[in-house]
This record gives sequence, C-alpha cells and structure tokens, in this order.
Amino acid sequence: MFRIIKRFSSQLTKTYQDVVIIGGGPAGLTLLTALKTSPITKNLKCTLIEGTNLDKVRQFNDPPEYYTNRVVSVTPKSIEFMKHIGSWDYIHEDRIKQYDGIIAYDSQDSESRIEFDVSNIGKDMLASMCEVINIQYSLLTKIESLEDDTINIKDNIKVIDIINPVEPDMNHDLNEIDKNTAIPELDWPIVKLSNGESIQTRLLIGADGYNSPVRKFAHIESRGWQYNKFGVVATVKLQFEDFRSVGWQRFLTTGPLAILPLTEDNATIVWSCTPELSDLFLKINEKIFPHLITAAMVLDEVDLNYIYEVLKENPDDFSILKDIEWRLSKFDPLTLEQNYPLPVVEVISNSRARFPLKMSHADTYISSRVALIGDAAHTIHPLAGQGLNMGQSDVSALVEALEKGMQRGMDIGSPLVLENYVSNAWPSNHMLLGVCDKLHKIFSTDFYPIVFARGIGMKSINMIDTVKDFMMKQISGK
Ligand SMILES: Cc1cc2nc3c(=O)[nH]c(=O)nc-3n(C[C@H](O)[C@H](O)[C@H](O)COP(=O)(O)OP(=O)(O)OC[C@H]3O[C@@H](n4cnc5c(N)ncnc54)[C@H](O)[C@@H]3O)c2cc1C
Repeated sequence: MFRIIKRFSSQLTKTYQDVVIIGGGPAGLTLLTALKTSPITKNLKCTLIEGTNLDKVRQFNDPPEYYTNRVVSVTPKSIEFMKHIGSWDYIHEDRIKQYDGIIAYDSQDSESRIEFDVSNIGKDMLASMCEVINIQYSLLTKIESLEDDTINIKDNIKVIDIINPVEPDMNHDLNEIDKNTAIPELDWPIVKLSNGESIQTRLLIGADGYNSPVRKFAHIESRGWQYNKFGVVATVKLQFEDFRSVGWQRFLTTGPLAILPLTEDNATIVWSCTPELSDLFLKINEKIFPHLITAAMVLDEVDLNYIYEVLKENPDDFSILKDIEWRLSKFDPLTLEQNYPLPVVEVISNSRARFPLKMSHADTYISSRVALIGDAAHTIHPLAGQGLNMGQSDVSALVEALEKGMQRGMDIGSPLVLENYVSNAWPSNHMLLGVCDKLHKIFSTDFYPIVFARGIGMKSINMIDTVKDFMMKQISGK
C-alpha cells in the first residue's frame, strides 16, 4: 500500500519529455521556437527551464524609453533565420538600427584604417543593432502565440542537478521518487529542479551559458582562456543623429572601443579594457564619462593615460573637461568631422555595466542524449559582434540534424543523429573563434614591429577590394 501511494505521489513530480532545454537566453528560446515551428519536429514534447523570471522579458511588450545596455550586432543571416521561424514578426522594429559600414582604425597609427562599405558587395545592410531583450521578447511572444500544450516553460526555477540514471554516483544519486518511477533500461538524463520536480528527457539541451551545468554533466571539456579584460557597455547620446550609419571601432592597446549606432541620436558602446580601467569607467562621474569616450576615439594613448591618472585620483574632477577640450582643439575640425565619430554628449543613467571577456570552445557539442548550443558551447571576444549570431547558426544546424533524424525514424537523442549537428557547426565556429582571438592579440600591443606590420596590413587591406569584400561577407554572415 505504502509503495502504491509513493508511486502515485511520485508521478506528480516526475515527467517525461522529448526535449528539455536548459536556458531561456537567446539560444534556448530560439531553439524552442525553431523546434515548434518546424513541420517535422513540432509535435515533440518540449520543456524550457530558465533560472530567472521571464516576466521581465514579457514586460518588454511596453519597452522603456531608453535603450537597454545589452545591445548586439545581428547579422542578416540571423535575421533571415528569425524571420523563417516567425519570431521576427514580434520584434520592436522601431528599436532596430541597420548599419552599412564599419570604420576600424589603430590608436598607434591613425593612418591605419579599414573602411568597410556594404554597398561594395551589392547589399544595403551590413548588420543591425538590436537589444538582446528585444530578441528574447520576440521569441517568447512567438512561442506563447502558438498556444501549444506540448510546450512547457518553467521560469524562476533552477536546474540543481542532472543525473544519468544508468550510472548514478555518490554525488548525483537517484532519490526514492526517481527509483520508483525510473524505467530501468531508459538511459534518458534526469533533470532535477529547485521546485522539487524531476524531468526525464530523451534529449537534453544545454543553452545554459558559459558555466553550463549540462556541459559539466556530459563531461565535455571546454578549452580557452580569460582575457583578463572586461567589456564595459553603456547607452549614450551623440551630439546629433549621424546619417553616416556606420559602426566605429578604435583599437587601443588596452582593448578596442566601439561606438555602434542606434536610432536617432542614440548609440551603444563596448569598451574592452583592463580590470582597473573597467573599475574606473564605472566610477567616473556620469557627466565626465561621455567626454572621455569622445577623447578615447581621437587622442593619443599617452594623453589618454594622463587623463585616466587624473580621474583615478578623483573620478569627479571636472577640471579634466577643459583639458580634454584643449587636447581635442589641436585637431583640424574638418578632420574630426570627417574621420571620427560624432562627439558623445550624454551617457544614459545606470546604463554602464561590465562583462568579463573570455574565449572558450567545447571539444564537441554532443554526447549521448545531450547537445550544447550558444555560449554553453563557445564564448568569443565581442570585437566582431559574433557570439549571439553563432548561437543562431548552432540552432539552425541542430534543428536540421534533428529533422533529418526524425524523417529517418531515428531516436533524436542518439549520437548518430546529433553527429550531423556537430560536424556542421563546430568547424566554422572554431575558425571564427580563432580569427577573433588573433585580432584581439594583434591589436593589444604597442610593440613597434607588430604595430608597423599591422599598419601595413590595414592599409593594404583597405586598398584591396576583394579582400575587404570577403571580410564584409564574413561579418554580415553571408
Ligand atoms: C560586451 C558584450 C558584447 C557583445 N556583443 C555581441 C554582438 O554584438 N553580437 C553578438 O552576436 N554577440 C555579442 N555578444 C555575445 C552575446 O551576448 C552572447 O553570445 C549571447 O547573449 C549568449 O546567449 P546564450 O543564450 O547562449 O547564453 P546566455 O544569454 O548566457 O543564457 C543562458 C541562460 O541560461 C540560464 N541558466 C544557466 N544556468 C541555469 C540553471 N542551472 N538553471 C536554469 N537556468 C540556467 C541563465 O539564467 C541564462 O538566462 C556580446 C557579449 C558581450 C559580453
């Protein structure tokens, strides 16, 4: 009798699913949308588990006045994919800014610049700037519009453990409920949630970011390094709307500073820098910081180092504004107007934040009944704006592999099915990770031979249209 009651009560807390996705970031939500809009995979029973409250994403239905500070550059290829799965219909288009070029230049040699103009490759857009929450909102709204009862979203709930039922160990053992309900021959992973529930799943997806619990469960090694750098982000206002519609990137030896356009006079910055400088940039008086950004796009690094020292002494030292103005006044106004971004005049309150930068790549994206996507599989330096886009490509490749497997009547958790995903996605991600890592390293030095060589490289690339066109196609994901 006791056993029957126990078995009955356990059925309330143990469920079986075809796919469990851990992580409701852009990668996890994209996968759920793609699975549920594919005619081949749409009947799979799917659960998505997210540790934070997704109501914040839903509230983006009525977006705030100012841009949020997590803004990414999204390639036309990613946008095409989001149109294909139907989520782009729900994006707040009025908060998207298309841009058609990038002007990148070297702090050690202002003549060393590359100017990418997308019209050279017959396109009208290089990429679009879009808030991460706008992407999440569009995906979640699309999913909820399907009113599909085979979709289960559990937010504000953390995955606290994942157990392999055929090989439980001392630290990851099955409890009484699992033991009573486990089907002995079923090797499906059991996911244990912070609300006491257990879910056993045919296929477990790690869309759970850099520290991925799923990757650890699957014993997949991830290699890479911390750059010992932070990316400081902020939403800013320019002097006026810049009709050039380009992204600007200046390679400082402490890390690149990018100013990327948003609609009207808004822009977003990503300033990669040392931990000490990131501390300083978050502390500097809000009225001084915009002038520092303007200065950092133009002045020599010796001048900048002096300004940093003054502000380290006192982050509210307004006397530095006169100093910056004086140093900038030495430049010809026409040169400033033509060759540099517009001055930054305001930083939106509380929009400054910093993120540690790292490079990592998992040895593989799959193991039996497990697949990794997005930052769980790879993290990349933001200098080329590719991290989220790589996650979109992962999803596209994974869904294609699952569709093929299902059409052949195969088990979607089997390595035979998942192998197609990893063989499509891993090599191109690896190449991109390598290129961005090298770029970061080449530009993070003031060692003269390298500065000289990269100057020649940038000038030559700027003159050779075929090389520039090739690079632009890579940046725009074409
Ligand atoms: C400064 C900066 C600038 C960038 N700029 C660009 C750009 O221009 N273009 C671009 O393409 N990319 C850019 N990126 C990268 C991009 O932001 C990331 O690649 C992308 O957001 C990763 O999405 P994801 O869904 O894979 O992971 P995440 O967004 O990290 O989502 C993982 C989710 O899993 C959840 N989770 C984790 N553990 C658990 C658990 N145990 N239980 C339940 N839930 C859990 C987390 O709460 C989180 O919501 C940038 C990154 C930085 C830092």
